[in-house]
Amino acid sequence: MTILDIVTLPHELLRMKTEPVTQFGDELQQLIDDMIETMREAPGVGLAAPQIGRSLRLAVVETLPDYDEQGEEIEGTRDLYVIANPEVVWTSRQEVAGIEGCLSIPGYLGEVFRPEEIRIKAQDRYGRSFKLRLHDWDARIFLHEIDHLNGVLYIDRLTSKENFWTEEEYVAMMEEERGSEVAK
Ligand SMILES: [Zn+2]
Repeated sequence: MTILDIVTLPHELLRMKTEPVTQFGDELQQLIDDMIETMREAPGVGLAAPQIGRSLRLAVVETLPDYDEQGEEIEGTRDLYVIANPEVVWTSRQEVAGIEGCLSIPGYLGEVFRPEEIRIKAQDRYGRSFKLRLHDWDARIFLHEIDHLNGVLYIDRLTSKENFWTEEEYVAMMEEERGSEVAK
């Protein structure tokens, strides 16, 4: 497997609509394996094809694990998904704010509203159709990756212009908040 280069802003591919996946042969299997490896190495919870320089409606997503009482990751509780030609078929009206970052916009974080619950359909790595119903954080990751396939980035969806920070600013802000909570 190969670790692929992740393209960053202002690379033009990040702003373009991608092409449908039509060939599910060896070349695609290799690409998918490389994308999974690249996502894990980064590390990230999702990676879309334009981020590694390919104009394809293809992304990989790995959900967050469950943790035991000691805060250790419970093995086997992460789910890995390959989505080819995904479509969002339903979104809840209820939206939730959450913090997002992107491997193609390194060093920054922003607050984004996303639907609390979604339903999508997609094809797996072999072209078989499947449907998924996703909540909260999982829904957020999938929507972020599907946005990439349409040339949309989370910075286009910020809850406000001010809610965009460098990682250092965000950490400092969280520490300050924690400090003020203690002070109460
Ligand atoms: Zn991203």
